[in-house]
Parts: sequence; structure tokens; C-alpha cells
Amino acid sequence: MSNNAADTHTVKEVDTKQTEEDEEGKEVDDEEPRECGVCGDVAKGYHFNALTCEGCKGFFRRAIKRSVQLHCPFLNKCIITKNNRRSCQACRFRKCQAIGMRQEMVMSEKEVLERRSRINKKKMHNAKTQLSSQQEEIIQELLCSHRSTFDFAFSRFTGFRPIDRDILTNSEHSPAHPSTNCPTKTCSSAGKSSADPTESLHACSSSNSIFSDCDNHKGDGNNRVYTALPHMADLTTYMIQDIIRFSKSLRDFRSLSMEDQISLLKGATFEIMLIRFNMVFNSTTDKWECGHITYCIHDVVRAGFQLSLIEPIYKFHHTLRKLDLQEEEYAIIQAMSLFSPDRPGVQQHSVIDRVHENLALTLKTWIDCKRTDPNKHLLFPKVIACFTELRTMAEEYSKQILQIQDIHPNTITPLIMEVVSKNSSCDF
Ligand SMILES: [Zn+2]
Ligand SMILES: [Zn+2]
Repeated sequence: MSNNAADTHTVKEVDTKQTEEDEEGKEVDDEEPRECGVCGDVAKGYHFNALTCEGCKGFFRRAIKRSVQLHCPFLNKCIITKNNRRSCQACRFRKCQAIGMRQEMVMSEKEVLERRSRINKKKMHNAKTQLSSQQEEIIQELLCSHRSTFDFAFSRFTGFRPIDRDILTNSEHSPAHPSTNCPTKTCSSAGKSSADPTESLHACSSSNSIFSDCDNHKGDGNNRVYTALPHMADLTTYMIQDIIRFSKSLRDFRSLSMEDQISLLKGATFEIMLIRFNMVFNSTTDKWECGHITYCIHDVVRAGFQLSLIEPIYKFHHTLRKLDLQEEEYAIIQAMSLFSPDRPGVQQHSVIDRVHENLALTLKTWIDCKRTDPNKHLLFPKVIACFTELRTMAEEYSKQILQIQDIHPNTITPLIMEVVSKNSSCDF
């Protein structure tokens, strides 16, 4: 019994020592067994700069740490073998140095502790950036809801009022409608494209910008300006219906009071719509590729919107697109927009706040885990910055829709009016 206990003790000591020493050695991934340069025993790797066995590795380490003067009891010429290596420490140590083992590579206790703490910290950090099972679940639910309610190919978008593309297709090169005609550069059909989006962006501020004929206050009256309005109203209504379905398919959303559901939808619908349109935005051609129909910024102009909305929308789509978000990330940010506790009229503020926090943390963890690019730590703050932009645009959108409604009272659909109206009676 006592023998066993002693054995166990010894084994434990050896284990500890090995873990410690492994940090100073380098394993050799070689099937072929090699010989220890000191004693000829089997060597599995390089230790302190030389190929040695585990025994000589430990010996060298202890010898350095003890720093006692070693004396050969014989003639300072002992030949060190696997069997006699314990008989003369002085000659064994001399052999160690002779084959190139280096004293300065032995770590001090302090260095060993520091190194161990670094390794532990790294382990803990890696553990933190694991998605929890709850977060995995959140992402799965969002992805599933998103996929079942976002018609990427716009195949269900039918029966809409046609978009008046006469000025696009027939008179692209005709000066018939100078104020509403699209510059060929941005609106021509496939094949011609705006080569450099930054060039267009830069042009925004100049008088020759792609927006130069976007300002509805200029030009020849309102008639042609609103040519795309009926179609855009139908497209928007279609998007809103899907966004309502998306929201209602989420458990956390359904568990809220009807009043709060309405408040959240009123606040987020336009934002989510922009996020969804971003998924089909082609920043090379400046176009939204919505299945069978492709839209350009001038379609938004022809719907009657003004520069104060169009310009930020254009910039937003380029900025968000540049982040190259994955489908999961798009799904999470839609939900983050939806669960914004500070929308007007919200009652269950803290409940929604908790959901929002949870989503933000899930997104951050997702980015930490799944992204590999060195600048990934910048991605989360960049996404958050986009939310600020979305807010501003949503306010401007509501304002402009109400103005358009004044001019064309029967074109905007009741559902769009529900979203932008201030009162909360609503049949979502
Ligand atoms: Zn050896
Ligand atoms: Zn000796």
C-alpha cells in the first residue's frame, strides 16, 4: 500500500515537471526515432536548442536552476550513455553544453508563471468568444424567420402597378424629358455600369453629380417626377408585409403587448426595409437587383423623394455593402432594429432593452467567432454606426411620405400610411 502511494506521488511530480518543461521544448513530428545527443536514449524533440531525451532535458534544466559547481569524480572524460548518465553530473552537463544546449533558453520560475498565465488568459479568451447554445438558438431562429419572409428573388412580388420605364428604355438618349431622364451612366440597362462608386459618391457634392437632376424642386413640374410612385408604393407595401411577417415569426416579438408590437414596427419597418434592400444592392452597378426588376437611384427620385433622403440612402447602401455582411449578420441587425426600446410609445421598455442587448452581444460574439479578417474588431462599431444613419433616414422618410401623400393622396397605400402615421391605431 505504502509503495503504491509513493509511486502515485512520483508520477504526479513527473507530470507537473513535464507540463512545465514542455513549454520550453519543441516536439519533432517525425515517425523515425532519433537519438539523444547527450546519452543516446530515444529523443522526441529539441530542448534548449538540441535534440535530447526527456531525461537529459530535465537534467539540464535542473542543473541550470541549481547552479551548483559540478565535479567529476573520475577524469572529466566520462562517456555518457543511457545507462550510466546518472553516475557523473559534471560530464553529463559538459556534454549538454557540447551539443549546443543553451542556458539562456531555460525559463526562470517567473517566466514560467508568466507564460502559464498568458496561456490561461488565451484559453479563457477563446472560451469567451464561443457562441453560447442560447446564442446559437437566437441566430437559428432569426435566420429561419428571415429566410422564410425575405423573398430574395422577389418572385412573390406580382400584381403591382407598372413602373413607368418609358423614359428609361425608349428615350435614354432622347432629350424629351430632360429633368427626369436618367444619366446613361447609372440607369442604362445591363452592360453599362458606373465603374467607380466612389467617383459617383464624390460627385454627390458637385453640381454635375448623379443627383444633379434629382431635386424635385427643380425641373418641369411634378407630373414626371412621380411616374414611379405607384410602383414604388406597391414595392414598399410588399416589403412591409414581409417585414411584419418576419417580426411576428419571432417569439420575443409575439410575447410583447399588441401596443408595443405596433410601436416597434412603426419605428423599425423602414430601417429593416433598407437593410433588406442592401442585401440585393450591387455597389458596382449602383443598382438594386430585385429578381425580375432592377432598380436604380433614379427610380427613387421618380417616386417623388428628395435629395435630403436620396443622398443618405445612396451613401448608406455603399457603406453597409462594404462591410460584406453575412446572411446571419443581416438577420441579427434586422432584429436589433426591431427591438429598439426607445421607439415612441413603447411600454415594456426594459423587456425590449434586454432583448436588444442580447442581440447585440450575439452579433458581437458571432463576429468574434466567425470572422477571421484582422480588422474584424472594427466591424461591430461600424454596424452600430449604421443604426444612427438608419434612424435619421427613417425620420426623413416619414416626413417625405407625408408630403407626397399631400400631393398624391390616393397613391400611397394605407399600410405605408400606417407605418409613418404618429397615432397607433393600426391593423398590423
Ligand atoms: Zn539523454
Ligand atoms: Zn565525469
